[in-house]
Amino acid sequence: MSTKANLNIENTPIDLFIGGSWIHASSGNRIDVFNPSNEQRLASVADADEKDARAAVDAAEKAAPGWAATSPRKRSEVLSRCYELMVSDAENLAALISLENGKAISDARGEVAYAAEFFRWYAEEAVRINGEISISPSGLARTLVQYQPVGISLLITPWNFPAAMATRKIGPALAAGCTCILKPATETPLTAYAIAALLKKAGVPDGVVNVLTTSRSGKVCGSILEDPRVRKLSFTGSTEVGRILLRKAADSIINCSMELGGNAPFIVFEDADLDQAIEGAMIAKMRNGGEACTAANRFYVQRALVDEFTSRLASRMGALIVDDGVNTGTQCGPLVNRGAVNKVASLVDDAVAKGARVVTGGKAPERAGFFYLPTVLADVSPDAELLNEEIFGPVAPVVAFDTEAEAIRLANSTEYGLVAYVYTKDLARGMRVSEAIESGMIALNRGLVSDPAAPFGGVKQSGLGREGAHHGLLEFMEAKYISTNW
Ligand code: NAD
Repeated sequence: MSTKANLNIENTPIDLFIGGSWIHASSGNRIDVFNPSNEQRLASVADADEKDARAAVDAAEKAAPGWAATSPRKRSEVLSRCYELMVSDAENLAALISLENGKAISDARGEVAYAAEFFRWYAEEAVRINGEISISPSGLARTLVQYQPVGISLLITPWNFPAAMATRKIGPALAAGCTCILKPATETPLTAYAIAALLKKAGVPDGVVNVLTTSRSGKVCGSILEDPRVRKLSFTGSTEVGRILLRKAADSIINCSMELGGNAPFIVFEDADLDQAIEGAMIAKMRNGGEACTAANRFYVQRALVDEFTSRLASRMGALIVDDGVNTGTQCGPLVNRGAVNKVASLVDDAVAKGARVVTGGKAPERAGFFYLPTVLADVSPDAELLNEEIFGPVAPVVAFDTEAEAIRLANSTEYGLVAYVYTKDLARGMRVSEAIESGMIALNRGLVSDPAAPFGGVKQSGLGREGAHHGLLEFMEAKYISTNW
């Protein structure tokens, strides 16, 4: 008998967080939030319009000079308190994430731990903002470079990691001395408001972080990007929406960091440790039920191993406990909404129509909630749509390859370039293939790359810029140089 993670949802804020206060949307409109595990309404949050957006920019502007002038040590201490509060409230936050996103509670706990680490990392980075000094080649000037906060930042986050995608932006923005407006996804606003409450408790001054939920993201974010006081857009979401926002940001020449979609290849060479590759595949595919930008989307396995790999992966995937996300035994929760289930089903149907064989799963179970069974497909045709598109669900298509060159060619045959997984015991081959693959991150004999201390991000149409590490801090700073002599 499974037990449920507990949460008293009545305590979760549901109104806009502007200038340190919780306020109703000026229109009075609200957005319903649903539990994907049972399709029931959980809460309704305020629905901001352009007037509210302007109030949020006003609040961020008012707080900006004070926050930029706060000493690095003080900013660091505030971020440390955010870390401590997040860790001490981890169970509630995890339950909230699981309720509104649907992910298994174990994944939600993992997300909270990961999310909190961004506060800890950027508490440490806040006091390490170094400049540079050099003598110009002519010898006529000294060049002093210093880093200053970029300014008011709009942070837009997706629903798949509602806590971690927010802290991965708020942490460096605050460490750099920027004030910001967070616009979380409409599907998962409660986690963002819970984080806002935590920031307030940790002593983040009023107006430094503002949070807006809206059902009209295009219009409301558009109005913020048109405001000349706003200098930065940090977006995580789909490549499609990323393109729209880059066009919009072009009008005001806004500094943009874009973390976009992925189509990760998972390559297993015949000399790989198969046990390790299966463990890695389960993590790379099934973390968050496959709803991750880093999710392995295409499994390329060298021909000698492909049958064994496929059947072992299928038996692990088929044995996963699929259930309500907040039940403690759950290993795979529902997808986020009905649209996500329909998309996954149509990608699987397309692959099957083109010759793929369903080894396990291949359908939605008959029950309430937005579930899809963990699925392994063999003999997938190269023209199947799911090899070219983000599946964003618990589906693993397996394709055989023969040579190293072919594996590299297949891995690179996509417009995306976020992450790739490579399994081989031959380190020289591992490094050679890692260098040849066009992606921002490589997991070599590992199923996970995400780490607050490492520069996360993609090449090609997976994004611009990096989050995490010192790189993530510099995304919220501008270099200024002073040319002088003495
Ligand atoms: P999405 O692009 O639909 O939405 C992301 C955010 O943008 C949400 O807050 C949404 O409300 C907002 N939005 C949508 N249209 C907008 C518009 N016209 N103007 C302004 N904002 C708008 O993405 P999603 O479905 O929430 O998340 C899944 C996507 O995010 C996947 O493509 C996934 O790969 C990507 N993702 C990338 C990373 C990364 O680090 N690269 C991390 C997580 C998710």
